[in-house]
Amino acid sequence: ATPTALMVGTGRGAKMGILIKNGEVLEAVNDVKTVVFDKTGTITVGQPQVTDVIGDETQVLRVATSLEAASEHPLAAAILKRGQALGVAAPTATDFQAIEGKGVTAQVDGQAAVVGNHKLLTDEPISAELQRQAIRLQDAAKTVVYVGLNHQIVGLIAIQDVAKSTSKAAIASLKARGLKTVMLTGDNERVAQAVADQVGIDEVIADVLPGDKADHVQAFQKEGKVAFVGDGINDAPALTTADVGIAMGSGTDIAIDAGGIVLVKNDLRDVDRALVLSKKTFNRIK
Ligand code: ADP
Ligand code: MG
Repeated sequence: ATPTALMVGTGRGAKMGILIKNGEVLEAVNDVKTVVFDKTGTITVGQPQVTDVIGDETQVLRVATSLEAASEHPLAAAILKRGQALGVAAPTATDFQAIEGKGVTAQVDGQAAVVGNHKLLTDEPISAELQRQAIRLQDAAKTVVYVGLNHQIVGLIAIQDVAKSTSKAAIASLKARGLKTVMLTGDNERVAQAVADQVGIDEVIADVLPGDKADHVQAFQKEGKVAFVGDGINDAPALTTADVGIAMGSGTDIAIDAGGIVLVKNDLRDVDRALVLSKKTFNRIK
């Protein structure tokens, strides 16, 4: 395409709320074979809510809110909200530590306390009954975090983040064009698969540590050009590694800076609209 055609293309995108940072990005969109999505905040709304507490609810939330008070994770916000709603008085935790992709640890009432996934709770034995409950909740698309105190699991908390109403249609239109769709997430395999089934995503890569997202994008690049769609701080390396990095407008500043395209309206269907725009620009169809 001529420089003028590119300018017209990016100008049209801007009017639709699809900010394309330069002409080369628009050109790359045309050749994309795989679209890789982050889950939380991209396919889902990004406002997780506590749905179930298994165990003594007051005790479980007392420990969990004490730990999560110092965390900035979206799951922490959901847990704190539930704790406040129930008027749980949480003691102040000390020695707080956030462990990326796993959870948080601290001292509560002078005892070792943890909230997180199975990767973090390796010392605490999980009963067959709790395991069964966790699987049931995960298959219902709920993220499960275990709460441990003094090397014992005291309960679990299920947290749900619903899919955006437009995600299914957005995925369907990309698939109709012959594109492969993938979800990449730090969440558990069962939860990720349940969400993927709801929205029609082809392939799921779960339990991915934040630092490994970019490597997965690189692996898909062996099959052709890759677009990555994300919103979080930890999505930035994947956004820059992908041939086309697409950031949600509601995302963190770091993600927005890393993206070559920004979806101002936070509408996932704009991924397909960017593709249509690119084809029109390069085929000079009006
Ligand atoms: P995502 O890719 O969905 O943004 P993260 O890498 O941030 O996921 O987190 C992956 C998993 O680590 C979560 O699903 C949860 O099990 C656990 N985790 C991370 N931070 C916390 C926290 N503050 N409290 C509880 N669990 C956490
Ligand atoms: Mg996200």
